[in-house]
Formats: sequence, C-alpha cells, structure tokens
Amino acid sequence: MIDNVRKIIEQTKDELIQLNEFIFSNPELGYEEYKACKAHVDLLKKHGFEVEEEYMDIKTAFKAEFDSGKEGPVIAYLAEYDALPGIGHGCGHNILGVVSTGAGIVLSKIIGEYGGKVIVFGTPAEETGGAKVDMVEGGSFNDVDIAMIVHPSDKYYKSGKTLAMEAIQFTFKGKSAHAAAEPEKGINALDAAINTFNNINALREHIKPDSRVHGIIVEGGKAANIVPDLAIAQFYVRASTKTYLNELVEMVKNCARGASLAAGTELEITNYEASYDNLVTNQTLSEVFTRRLYDMGVENIYEPKESFGSSDAGNVSHVCPTIHPYFSISNENVTGHTKEFAEATTKPSAYDNMCKTMGALVLTSIDIIEDKTLLKKIKKEFETVKK
Ligand SMILES: [Zn+2]
Ligand SMILES: [Zn+2]
Repeated sequence: MIDNVRKIIEQTKDELIQLNEFIFSNPELGYEEYKACKAHVDLLKKHGFEVEEEYMDIKTAFKAEFDSGKEGPVIAYLAEYDALPGIGHGCGHNILGVVSTGAGIVLSKIIGEYGGKVIVFGTPAEETGGAKVDMVEGGSFNDVDIAMIVHPSDKYYKSGKTLAMEAIQFTFKGKSAHAAAEPEKGINALDAAINTFNNINALREHIKPDSRVHGIIVEGGKAANIVPDLAIAQFYVRASTKTYLNELVEMVKNCARGASLAAGTELEITNYEASYDNLVTNQTLSEVFTRRLYDMGVENIYEPKESFGSSDAGNVSHVCPTIHPYFSISNENVTGHTKEFAEATTKPSAYDNMCKTMGALVLTSIDIIEDKTLLKKIKKEFETVKK
C-alpha cells in the first residue's frame, strides 16, 4: 500500500508544486484569498472532486468532496491559504493548504478500494477572522469522522494543544466637560478603562498560570483639557480549557464592571473577533499519524510544542476528533511569521517533506477506513476527554 501511495504522490507532485508556487507568488490576506481559493478549486475539480464554492456564504471558502460510493467514514483535510500583511506567506499557509488538497487528491485515487468519503475544506482567514469558527457553528463538521491539518514549521512536532481565546471589548461611556473649569460636571470614561487594567493586574495573581490576559486602550479621549466621554479597551483572554476560559472571562468582565461602577460610566461588553476554542488533540489519531510519518521516512518527530497561541482549528477539535501537528520545511532553524519562512516553503526540502506528510495523511486515513475498531477507539477518546 505504501508503495502505491508513493507512486500516486510522485504522479501528482508537479501539479502541487505549481499550486504552491502560484499561491506563494500571489499572497492574499484573510477573506481576500480569491486567487488561492480558485487555484485549489480548479485542481480539485480537475481530479473529479465535487466542489461547493462560496461555501457557507464565505466568498473564499470551499467544500470539495470525493465519494467512493461505498460505505465508510468521512475524512476531512483542512486547507488554509491566507497570508500576512507585508511578509506574504510567512506562516506558510501556501504549503499547508497544498498538503491538504494534495492528500485529498491522492486519497481519492485509491479510496474506491476501501470505501468512505474524503472532503477537503478550504478554510480562509486563519490569521484573522477564523472561518472555521463559522463552519463549526454552521454544522460543517457534524458528519465528519476525523479532521486533520498539518502546519509547516522548522521541525516535525506531534499535535499538541492551543489555548481557548475570547476577544472582549469594553466600551465605557461617560460625559465630557472642561477638565479644568468644570471637572465636577464630567464623567471620566478613561478612568474606567485604566481601572479595568488595574483590576485585571490584581486578578492576574490569582489565575491559572497558563492563562493569558492582554489588552490595549483603543480610544481614550481627544484632548487633555476635555474629560473623556468615551473609552474603549480590547482584551484577549486565553486559557487552556474552554471551561476555565468561561470562568476567567466572567472575572475579567467583573473587573470592567467594577471599574465602570466606580467611575459612573455606562458599560457595553462585546466580542470584537471570533472566539477560539482550545485545541484538543485526539491522541489515538495522533499516534497513528506519527507512526505513518515514520513509515514515510521521517526521522525525528518531537513532542508537542509548548504553545500559548490560539487557532480556529481548536473549534473543529470540539466537534470531531482532530489533529493539528507540524511538519518540517527546512533543515535550518526558520522562524514563523518571517520572510525567510515564506521563502523556505518553496525549497526542495519543503517539497520532500510535503510528500512525506501527504503520504502520512493518506495512510492514516486508510488505516481508519480499514480498521473499524480503531475509529471506535478514536471516537471513544473524543467523547470522554475533558475539553
Ligand atoms: Zn500564523
Ligand atoms: Zn499559521
């Protein structure tokens, strides 16, 4: 089976390299990935996938499906293709997306022998808007048995965890007045914002150590001689589980409520970005994938990265068994979100590892299609693990 998968990868490789280089040369920001999205869709259609474009009313999202026509599990590969301002594909989502689409195409060539269905989801705006959040809410993954996405990196890392995150905005409304002539007539909204920070800094001593609360003041007045009647502060609140995040968010909101009461302002609390769930790695699935990477000739796979970031793949992991590991694109120490990292995604060693990673994704899927008890075990873990 491995030899067959290797052969199909070899036959598809050139098209995938072309796709990768096209997206690398045409970097587009989140929700503007029109060229990248179309390039993925065209290639998937060419290989017989049925594609739903503008999926879930998101212009640069797609759902591409290949059905074996036989009963079996639904396997999803998640593609991303958004770039960063100024540095293009510094996060390597060009090659990330190509690995997922490539795995989909390779699996589609042999899925007829095994059964089941493969879906490639085109998921825009990982860096900013997180389309996966809307897809999860819209039920895209309700019928999916497993979801996989592999991110480029300096080394191979097993799938780990990310933090759950909520983006909260506090808008304090006060009353303006001359700050020197008649300060008693004013209600200072900036005071409420500053005291929110002070309250949160006091709270910090009593929160779980792997939590994060960090914010800025977006609006804090117009002139020093006018009592600010409007102040806006934005925070990211992060925690290792969704359960604790909800508790922590409530505590942070109370910091703002207390500050608002003291200053006499009105307070409005909103979410200024989508909230991300923590990534829950399915360990059973992760073990199969790791084993299959070794089978594909990968030599070193490291334990999960200590990550204090957040990703919209986290939301997917709350609705179906998911892995989000990392694959190496370079023998050198390249750092994410840099131009050097972007450049490394088009080098021969990146393509060598792209093929190994695609191979492991395909072999993992076949293992799951073939071995019903394995899928049962994966699902049992999904149901019982703490989120
Ligand atoms: Zn990134
Ligand atoms: Zn990324």
